[in-house]
Amino acid sequence: LSELTPNEAVLLVDARGRRHLVRLRPGGSFHSHSGIVEHDRLIGRPDGVVVRSTGGARYVALRPTLAEFVLEMPRGAQIIYPKDLGAILMLADVYPGARVFEAGVGSGALSLAMLRAGAEVVGYELRPEFAAVATANVAAMGLEQRYRVEGRDAYLGIEERSLDRVVLDLPEPWRMVSHAEQALRAGGVLVAYLPTINQTAELRQALSVSSFGLAETVEVLERHWHVEGRSVRPDHRMVAHTGFLTSARLLEKER
Ligand code: SAH
Repeated sequence: LSELTPNEAVLLVDARGRRHLVRLRPGGSFHSHSGIVEHDRLIGRPDGVVVRSTGGARYVALRPTLAEFVLEMPRGAQIIYPKDLGAILMLADVYPGARVFEAGVGSGALSLAMLRAGAEVVGYELRPEFAAVATANVAAMGLEQRYRVEGRDAYLGIEERSLDRVVLDLPEPWRMVSHAEQALRAGGVLVAYLPTINQTAELRQALSVSSFGLAETVEVLERHWHVEGRSVRPDHRMVAHTGFLTSARLLEKER
């Protein structure tokens, strides 16, 4: 669909590149210091339409990409950034119809990426207020059909069985290794995102004495470039660190 529709999330980008995420409502309006943009002037118009506010400021209205949505959506917990989300989809080999367990769910950025790749996601999240934020963010992107979040402590165990993938973003994933052994089918993949290398080493130790094999750890460095006329060079600043990604496969137990 190329026209913007009521209820969808739309990104308004001003002349300086500043972004505002708005949910289009008939009769609604977007207010900024340079005046108002009525939502009715966007609804039914093409994705990418250019409008002016009552104060004359120019805005491009775009249906956000998943990466744009994730960066602008409401947050409870810290999110996983798009550069890591893309890598996680490959490392966890998320495919349409894959049965994925996720914990903790936080704001739902990782949930959104895996749902968009076609997975069926069951998430456990300790804090009910974060679970509510994640559920709302997933619904705003229209991906709620294959999504269920439960307010519970993942360290106590995973109720699901015959899962294809277990994807973790919580502080002590080594406490999930034996739970994942029970819940995953043979050949299933475990992926964990961790901010520090000490945590990563502790997880790798737990994996090394488990039924998991083929463990690997990687970090993703992304460098943006400034491209303007003759000035073509890397940006002066970059995000130097987000997290480490560890993956492993569940192997059949040797008899
Ligand atoms: N990956 C998420 C962010 C997760 S932040 C995203 O991309 O948006 C880590 C989350 O783990 C927090 O919301 C925290 O409440 C939750 N958490 C921590 N320990 C947990 C546990 N034992 N069980 C379930 N969730 C847990």
